[in-house]
Amino acid sequence: MSEGAAKKDERLKFQAVRGTRDLLPPETALWNRVEQAAHDVFGTFSFGEIRLPAIETLGLFARSLGTETDIVGKEMFLLAEREPSVVVHPGRFGPPPQSEQDRRDEAERVFSEPAMRESIEHQIEESVLVLRPEATASVCRAYIEHGMQQLPQPVKLYYMGPMFRRERPQKGRYRQFYQIGAEVLGGSDAPAIDAEVIEMVMMFFDRLELQGVQLDLNSIGCRECRPRYIELLRAELLKVKDKLGADSQRRIETNPLRVLDSKLESEQGIIAALPHIADHLCEECAAHYAAVKHQLEMRGVIYRENWRLVRGLDYYMRTTFEITAQGLGSQNAVCGGGRYDGLVELLGGPPTKGIGFAIGEDRLILSLQESGKAPAQQGRDVYIAWMGERAHATAIRAAKDLRKAGFSVELPPVEQKFGKALGQADKLGAKYALILGDNEVSEGLWTLKTLADGSQAKYTEPDLLEHLRKQKALSS
Ligand code: ATP
Ligand code: MG
Repeated sequence: MSEGAAKKDERLKFQAVRGTRDLLPPETALWNRVEQAAHDVFGTFSFGEIRLPAIETLGLFARSLGTETDIVGKEMFLLAEREPSVVVHPGRFGPPPQSEQDRRDEAERVFSEPAMRESIEHQIEESVLVLRPEATASVCRAYIEHGMQQLPQPVKLYYMGPMFRRERPQKGRYRQFYQIGAEVLGGSDAPAIDAEVIEMVMMFFDRLELQGVQLDLNSIGCRECRPRYIELLRAELLKVKDKLGADSQRRIETNPLRVLDSKLESEQGIIAALPHIADHLCEECAAHYAAVKHQLEMRGVIYRENWRLVRGLDYYMRTTFEITAQGLGSQNAVCGGGRYDGLVELLGGPPTKGIGFAIGEDRLILSLQESGKAPAQQGRDVYIAWMGERAHATAIRAAKDLRKAGFSVELPPVEQKFGKALGQADKLGAKYALILGDNEVSEGLWTLKTLADGSQAKYTEPDLLEHLRKQKALSS
């Protein structure tokens, strides 16, 4: 390396990539508590954990979410190959890289032929790798890949881990964020399944004492009745087109359901007067929706019907729900879910019923922190202040025994004066300082100082352990 390069190197400052962040102690203790609660609660509903790769093919999401969605069209992180077989342009997929202009033109021409384009797109979807933006498609892929339809149905799975979307970062919205989700695949589409899945999330939030939890519920019908409703909606929207904003005007054609999502103040009055999907469900969907609500009531789950709650994706049907919590400003959705009976088939599997949800763990944690449910600074139970060679040996043994008994112990690696050690113990938020000097070791009586009140007492080794155990039991 040249001297100049070395100098420049010294000035390098690496930072976490935009939209990603480090999670540090003590906050990670809260993340662990949340994840442990998920393992516990979902386990009591007999869900098993599935661990999925963070890398999948582009095709999986292009197929499941659709290439027209924001997630696939704009937000997905594509992984660059060292020697790309295809070039992926932002917002568009193209043919192999060409060095000369005419070869590029040729490729452009080939790409514009529908049959060629389809075949190229297919190859791209199979060979281009992406960071997963969500995990439902992966769970369905795994269900098919491992022949899980042979297992007793339904198969109940949950997952947790990072997801990746290139969105504009802000509070509660990151490019690497974490989801905890669950899916029920196969078997029937009995309303009790929908209700139990929702009951499970609510129980999980309850366990965490999440504040201001609000469950919104809707049914968006099926392939039979939804298209009819969409046409009706489109007709009604066309009547008021002039009063709508540009986004909504465009969506009348592309996806009228999304108009219901609009947050635009000026459109709210108009939207309120639009027909409700609940009044246009087919008989089966209406019965299913009524039964889901009844099942929720039987389970004591409080919900609010929200006819404007829609999911833009085609494979979603019937039950949809969203859960919000307090302290999150406009990014207040902590969980989204719904039924997706066509998805496994869409991905090449057998016709399979499916329902699931995904919780935004980052937002869940933010809400818990806002309402003071976060643990304080990680404390130590015992700080061992030792002086002298013999005391060091005793301290090492004491640390091992205390840790075996489940206490968190700080054992300083080098000798320090007792005064300094006690100061350090204070700073680290230790509950006790165990003082081990020559006297203590030769007498076999150890000094334990309670740092909160400064009181001190001497114990034999077994008594000390017993005393600490009792105190811990009292305080928990
Ligand atoms: P939003 O409308 O807030 O963008 P979404 O509809 O894109 O949410 P889903 O794909 O349904 O969200 O994901 C479920 C949950 O994951 C959301 O309710 C939210 O809590 C969380 N989530 C989604 N995108 C992000 C993100 N970029 N950063 C943090 N959490 C996210
Ligand atoms: Mg989003």
